[in-house]
Amino acid sequence: MDYKVLADLIFPDAKEISYYEEKYPARNLPEGAYVTRFAPSPTGFIHVGGLFGGIIDKKLAKQTGGKFILRIEDTDQKREIENGIFQIVNGLKGFEVIPDEGAISEDEESGEYGPYKQSERKDIYQAYAKSLIQKGLAYPCFCSPEELEEIRGKQEQAKVRPGYYGVWAKCRNIPLEEKIKRIQNGEKYVIRLKSAGREDRRVEHKDCIKGKIEFPENDQDAIIIKGDGLPPYHFAHPVDDHLMRVTHVIRGDEWLPSLPLHLELFRALEFKLPKFAHTATIMKDDDGNKRKISKRKDPEAAVSYYHEQGILAESVTEYLLNVANSNFEPWRRGNPDKSVDEFDFQLNKMNVSGAVFDMVKLLDVSKTIISKLSAEEIYNKTLEWANYYDEELKKLLEDNREYGIRVLNIERGNVKPRKDIAKWIDVKDIIIYMYDDKFAGNTEYEFQKVNDKEEISNIVNTYMEKYFDLADSKEEWFNKIKDLAEELGYSREVKAYKQEPEKFKGHVGDVSTVLRVVVTGRSNTPDLYEIMQVLGKDSIKERINLFFK
Ligand code: GLU
Repeated sequence: MDYKVLADLIFPDAKEISYYEEKYPARNLPEGAYVTRFAPSPTGFIHVGGLFGGIIDKKLAKQTGGKFILRIEDTDQKREIENGIFQIVNGLKGFEVIPDEGAISEDEESGEYGPYKQSERKDIYQAYAKSLIQKGLAYPCFCSPEELEEIRGKQEQAKVRPGYYGVWAKCRNIPLEEKIKRIQNGEKYVIRLKSAGREDRRVEHKDCIKGKIEFPENDQDAIIIKGDGLPPYHFAHPVDDHLMRVTHVIRGDEWLPSLPLHLELFRALEFKLPKFAHTATIMKDDDGNKRKISKRKDPEAAVSYYHEQGILAESVTEYLLNVANSNFEPWRRGNPDKSVDEFDFQLNKMNVSGAVFDMVKLLDVSKTIISKLSAEEIYNKTLEWANYYDEELKKLLEDNREYGIRVLNIERGNVKPRKDIAKWIDVKDIIIYMYDDKFAGNTEYEFQKVNDKEEISNIVNTYMEKYFDLADSKEEWFNKIKDLAEELGYSREVKAYKQEPEKFKGHVGDVSTVLRVVVTGRSNTPDLYEIMQVLGKDSIKERINLFFK
């Protein structure tokens, strides 16, 4: 009797693997094109590490004229959540990580190499498992959970490695006839690989990121088909990446320890090996200690956080590319206005060990990107965000679009545009004092050097009586502030005051701070001249009256 009888008994309806080899032919792509895939499990929100991988997958495929696949790894159905695929697809879409092939929604997909949901590929996995059984490279294992527990106990006692291998692999040497009989008797079983590896032999691997690495061969008889007929990840991965004609498997380095098993499976299945790139986990600096960025401790680990905060997807992408490729930063410095699409991403320029996620830096990147947008763009994007998250801001902006744009245009569109907005959630606080009714309810003055009520009145009144004129150019305005300073005993220039402080009450800056605080309620704002231009005469006068009240 040969293995074929066993294979036919276990998978009577499975097709020949040649059927699938023909159905999913080699791709017709330009030389050097990368076929990449992002393969999340629909178990919850997308982690920033997942997004990181997805951005790299997409970038490399796009850059080389290849394809980027979104594959849903749902063979562990216990862990699945409702709407999981929707969350993945939408989460990625928010960052323009749009697949060329694969899942589009809970039950739609596109592409010629599908199905792209592993739970729908059962027949395919079984066909390949059958081919291994036929070749004597896989076998049914009847061990119950209790028996496996018993083996583990004995291994612990004997102080040897845990697992199902060598002499511990109880079902490996059951005679063929007996296997067949037990299956015919209706016993439950899983299918295991019959590993040809030995722990005392080494296997070498050249990783696109980690370089040359070496580890002991796999010798575990890993499960390739579970009791429910589906494969675990380890078996789905070679079958899918082979049939989808993936050229580069880019995934987190938490998969490195399983690589020997994967390499053995690729070999047993006679698949051409794709290139592997194991990316370092993104880390977080926790009071000087580096640790993995965690779903539980770090809100920024969830991709939804960026949407909630109103951090531009572009900023996150740019920052992550920055983290990913050591040559990104110099490239960006040399090409401040180019699209990231033009950056030539290289796997071998990736960090071998975990880069630290730095929110301050991300927000800095974001400030630069936002500083290059027009006031109108900022208005539109802020409003879009406010639609979801901030009713009050939404109303402020919507009630007077033209005014909103003028407010946001202060100190913008010049050579050194303002850089104070990092995320849309900050906009309200940045602009709120420009709205009269909000300002009236919130007049907390923060005077600096000049604190004396009478002196403040004196500065404000003199200004209004003798110097206030909105028709002035910026230069005229500033000269008048200097005149005002001089008239009241302050120096026209800061320098003069610093040289002989005893001669003056203060300097021109102290005078303009008084005007700034009365008009805006704040000591720190963008250009006061521009603010006054936007507020207009009535509003300024009203604010001054309010102050005197
Ligand atoms: N489903 C696996 C994960 O979520 C995919 C690993 C891979 O990319 O090969 O980590």
